[in-house]
Amino acid sequence: MKVLVINCGSSSLKYQLMDMDTKNSLAKGLVERIGLPGAMLTHRPKDSEKEVITAELPDHVAAIKLVLEAIVDPEFGVINSLADIDAVGHRVLHGGEKVSGSVLIDDAVKQAIEECIELGPLHNPANLAGILACEKMIPGTPQVAVFDTAFHQSMPPESYLYGIPYELYEKYKIRRYGFHGTSHKYVSQRAAGMLGKRIEKLKLISCHLGNGSSITAIKYGKSVETSMGFTPLEGLMMGTRSGDLDPSIVSFIMNKEKWSGDQVNDFLNKRCGVLGLSGVSSDFRDLQKAAEEGNVRAQLALDVFVHDVKKYIGAYAALLDGVDGIIFTAGLGENSPLIRSSICETLGYLGVNIDEEKNTTVRGQEMDISKWGAKCRVLVIPTNEELMIALDTKEIVNQE
Ligand code: ADP
Repeated sequence: MKVLVINCGSSSLKYQLMDMDTKNSLAKGLVERIGLPGAMLTHRPKDSEKEVITAELPDHVAAIKLVLEAIVDPEFGVINSLADIDAVGHRVLHGGEKVSGSVLIDDAVKQAIEECIELGPLHNPANLAGILACEKMIPGTPQVAVFDTAFHQSMPPESYLYGIPYELYEKYKIRRYGFHGTSHKYVSQRAAGMLGKRIEKLKLISCHLGNGSSITAIKYGKSVETSMGFTPLEGLMMGTRSGDLDPSIVSFIMNKEKWSGDQVNDFLNKRCGVLGLSGVSSDFRDLQKAAEEGNVRAQLALDVFVHDVKKYIGAYAALLDGVDGIIFTAGLGENSPLIRSSICETLGYLGVNIDEEKNTTVRGQEMDISKWGAKCRVLVIPTNEELMIALDTKEIVNQE
């Protein structure tokens, strides 16, 4: 079975064609600048050189058409015919409260995605455009939506409600939703495999640390609390996002700077986080380099980030009443031994004891970096959201 995984942004589109018999990717690629001058596709077949194609791409239909042509191209394509695509899996940001799992796309699902545009104004319209484009270009091929919020729908009310009048939750659906669900779900399932235990028996804390970062408490396979909230702005301080702060700071800045609500929102999303604190960069590699060279504010930003992560791990260990494993994933979690060891330094009380040699040698593979006998295992697991989407898609299509 072959599944095409599509992740649509407002002006970009990532794709991956997965062979589900081997769980390998046959080709992947990226379309950039959809609807803008200079649009291009970078197509990477599994066993050959990348192919860069420039084209006029006025909309997502044109982008999907170009992707499909690349996949079946006689020279650099990887399948003979579009009929070989058995299903399409779409990453969708927001499913609100209506969706607690992946679903076969029909009119009701499309309407649910549309209704959530208010909650995911940047992503949901693009996700929907990708779905409609595939319906047009490969009609009859089953399509599945895999939502970033769905995994967290298992959270109990005490996790998802904020301390505001209940009527606002009812009226505007203001509550914690959580994001990165596909990643947290994938790495927690892999963790169970690595530990050789059933997920229904495990208490895990998953740290997805990238440009955007979130931490999730996973009890017996279900998300019970997560750091991102109503939007992906809450929780850890991130590359450019502030993360948690006293809500009165918002009106304080608005008054001082004479900013509108949209302006302050833009500021908190794009100019804060480690970028704002360090004044150096939102990229952790740049920060680590600057800190090594003696930049005090870069070091300060790293210290605050590590402090935040530890604080969440401690809080989630308390909620879970113990923890069997802590997972590090995404760009930073997978690739920065320094960040991992700084975080784990004071987690001995949880039974964490990492092996520094393993911590510094792990590269792009799944590894338990704990010392022998450590009670709480520390696992580095490369996330693979595309594979998770393809697995869900396969399961749902096969059920039909
Ligand atoms: P996104 O949220 O955009 O998907 P990623 O998961 O790709 O982000 O993570 C990007 C972050 O990971 C960047 O801040 C980058 O600096 C960091 N990163 C990647 N490789 C390393 C590394 N070797 N050391 C430290 N940080 C790294």
